Amino acid sequence: MKKIILSFFLLTSVAINAQRTCGVEEIMQKIMADPIQREIYLKGQEKFEKELEKLNNRVYRSGESIENVNATARIPMAFHFPSVSTTASNTLKDCLRALAQNQVNSLNADYNATNADISNWSSVSSFYPIVPSVGSIDVEFVIATQNHPAGTGLSNGIPAVTFGTEFLNGSDVDLTWSRYMNVVVRPEGGILGYSPKPGFPSSGMTVVLNTWAFGSGNGCAGYVPGVPQGSQQTGINKGRTLTHELGHFFNLDHTFDGCGTNCNASGDKVCDTPASNQEQYGCPSPGSINGCVSGQKVLTMNYMDYTDDACMYMFTPGQATRMLAQYNSIKNQFSTTALSNETFLENQFSIYPNPNKGSFTIEFKELANSFSVEVYDITGKTIYENNYNQSANPSQMINLDNVNRGIYFINVKSDKGLVTKKLVIQ
Ligand SMILES: [Zn+2]
Repeated sequence: MKKIILSFFLLTSVAINAQRTCGVEEIMQKIMADPIQREIYLKGQEKFEKELEKLNNRVYRSGESIENVNATARIPMAFHFPSVSTTASNTLKDCLRALAQNQVNSLNADYNATNADISNWSSVSSFYPIVPSVGSIDVEFVIATQNHPAGTGLSNGIPAVTFGTEFLNGSDVDLTWSRYMNVVVRPEGGILGYSPKPGFPSSGMTVVLNTWAFGSGNGCAGYVPGVPQGSQQTGINKGRTLTHELGHFFNLDHTFDGCGTNCNASGDKVCDTPASNQEQYGCPSPGSINGCVSGQKVLTMNYMDYTDDACMYMFTPGQATRMLAQYNSIKNQFSTTALSNETFLENQFSIYPNPNKGSFTIEFKELANSFSVEVYDITGKTIYENNYNQSANPSQMINLDNVNRGIYFINVKSDKGLVTKKLVIQ
């Protein structure tokens, strides 16, 4: 028996070493075979195409700047470890929470093109004249800490990281965690991970990562089979499996999805990625592999190929546009309360008197280093805004001159978060 287990382990190890594989095509076959999921997919694609057209044509409402359209996207994330027992030690749980944060940090770097190895691009870009620059989207992935779903037992301030049976009983969808960007980490045989393409947060969809393709660094003692450790998984040790799978979640295809004459409709449907019909492994020399079109080289350092983590480091602007269009088409599906410190802040500051005649005091129970105040009317028009720096005074008096009677809203933003309260002026 021991021998069988050992051989199985060796075979698996060899498979891990030899190939990055992603299960996106298999999951899409399952989705398209299910009439309800297929309908969600088709409707979603329709919406996506409209958003993509808007971005490509820059068709915005008059007066709306591109900067406003592209306001930083904050995406609430939740991580789930169904193979780690709910009764596991706090040491292990704390370690996994830290690894989840570490994974999120590298994700943010990759999506904003602030990853350290992006600097490799400048010396190789001349091989890829159709790639105008590296791509990035103004996005911040944040592990949710507030207003967790009912029944999960997680209190405010605790990160949305679950263990054991707290999530989905082995399935890929859990409506308890709908409206989050869910990542499930569990043993998945020889594949590194998979994602629906695209994913719909309102349906509780998830990205699944194999345990050994999650995070980076030395992993956590006692977590079997463990995050990337040692030389066995050298190719997948920088947390980029999630960068790749989230690319699918935001509607990207593999860069090796085929040759075709119309770059908008064939291959990966992105025009600034050189077309290719062959996935690449390991760490090819930049510019060393021919693409479909004569003279074009395969963009082996792109996150949507199969090369080693250490050798992939960029998206293209075309891919970023496609992801942003997908984000715009599903952004209303993300929870708006999961990142809010509202409950915490509600108890941290008060406004008095309220109702008032236009003069009132904001008082913090705990000193905020700096905060900003914005008052706006029910049409959304800002009537007052100011930033305050304070080191000693926990309260600040505010006078609104010549303000009409009525209902207003006040946003108070500090390093602890943002909260909105109603202000009544009599
Ligand atoms: Zn993939």
